[in-house]
Amino acid sequence: MHIGVTPHHRRRTTLITAAAVVALAAPLTAAAPAIADANFPSPNGNTNISSIVTYDDLIAELEKLEKTSRFGVDVFTLEEAGTAVTDSEQGRDLYVATVGDGPEHVWLQGRIHGNEPYGTESLLAVLKDLGSNGSPESTLLRETYTFHVIPMYNPDGSELNIRHTILQDGSEQRIDLNRDWGVGKFAADESLAFYEYWTMVDPAFAVDIHHQGLKTEYGTGDEVTLSLGISLAPGGPTLPGIQGGAYDVLTRQMHVHVYDELQRAGFVNMDRYQVGGSLEIDIKGGVVSAMMLGLNHDGLNPEGHSNPAIFFETSGNTSDGSLGQKARGKSIQQNVRALNELLVGMATGEVQQEDPARWEEIPHAPVTGYQTDDGVIPASY
Ligand SMILES: [Zn+2]
Repeated sequence: MHIGVTPHHRRRTTLITAAAVVALAAPLTAAAPAIADANFPSPNGNTNISSIVTYDDLIAELEKLEKTSRFGVDVFTLEEAGTAVTDSEQGRDLYVATVGDGPEHVWLQGRIHGNEPYGTESLLAVLKDLGSNGSPESTLLRETYTFHVIPMYNPDGSELNIRHTILQDGSEQRIDLNRDWGVGKFAADESLAFYEYWTMVDPAFAVDIHHQGLKTEYGTGDEVTLSLGISLAPGGPTLPGIQGGAYDVLTRQMHVHVYDELQRAGFVNMDRYQVGGSLEIDIKGGVVSAMMLGLNHDGLNPEGHSNPAIFFETSGNTSDGSLGQKARGKSIQQNVRALNELLVGMATGEVQQEDPARWEEIPHAPVTGYQTDDGVIPASY
C-alpha cells in the first residue's frame, strides 16, 4: 500500500466512526447486556491483507510521529539501545518508541504474532495520542510514566502474515515468540533482543495485544469482540505464589477496571480469555508470563525484577478471513480505549481500588482446568 498519506486518512475516518458509534450506544448505559453493533468482525469480513500495516509503513509512521509529536516521541532500534542481539531472524531492525518522562516505566507491545495485525495500529494510535494530546489525562500519563511502545515485536512474521518467526540457522524452524521466554528457550533472536531490553527497562507493568478467532460469549451466545487475558491464571497453579499474591490481585483489578470502563463505550463486548472452551491459560513461556515470573535468563536479571502484565485479544484474524474494513476501525478503537482506560486507571490509582473478586463477574465459562506448558491440570488440582 502507499504509505504516508493513507494511514493518516484512515485513522481520521476510524476516529469519527468510532465516536459516532459511541454516541449512539451511550443511552443504552452500562447495564445493557446486548451491544449496539457487535457484528464486527464477521465470517464475511473479507480480510484485505493489503490494508494492513507493513514493516515499512511502521517505520514511516514512527519517523513521522518522532518529527511531529508535541511532547517528544523518541524512536530507536534495539541496536541503538545497545542490546547484544539487535535484529530479527531475517535481519530487520527491531523498533521501540518512548514517550513520557515519568519515573515508572510501562511496556506496551503488539504483533508478537505476525498474523495478528491490529496491535501495531492500536499502539501507533496510542503513541500518537500520548505524543501530542494536551489533555489533563495525557499529561498525567506522561508525568507518571515513561512508555516503551513496541508496535511490531515480530516484523518477520508480520511481513509473511504468519504467527511465528522462522529461524535462519538452516533449520527453517518456526518459533512462536510468545512461547520463547523460558528456561531452555530463547531460540529466536527477537526473544534475546527484547528480553535484554526488558531487563534494561524494568517496567512497572506491561500490556500485550493479540487477536483470537471469532468467539461467542458463554451463556448468551453474543459475539465477543474483546477477551481480557492473563497468561498465568489468577487463582491458578502459579500466579498466587508470585510476589505474595500481589499480581494475582492487581491483574484481576486491571481486568475489572477495563471491563467496567469499556462497557460504558457500548460497542465492545468483552469476556475473559479462555482456551479450549473452559480452560484458564497458565503457561510459563509467554513473554508476559516470564515477566511476572521474573525470569533471569543468561544472568541478565540477577535482581529478579518482575512485573504484572495482562493481554488483550481482539476477535478476528487474518487467517480465518474475518477482518473486514468494518471490523478494522472498531477493532483498533477498542484496543485504544482499553489501553487508555487501563493506563489512566493505573496512574490515578482507580485500578488499585477495584474489587479483585469482581473478576468473577466478567463473563466466562465455568473453569474446568488450567492449560499449562505440560498439559491440562484439572480445576480441582
Ligand atoms: Zn497472539
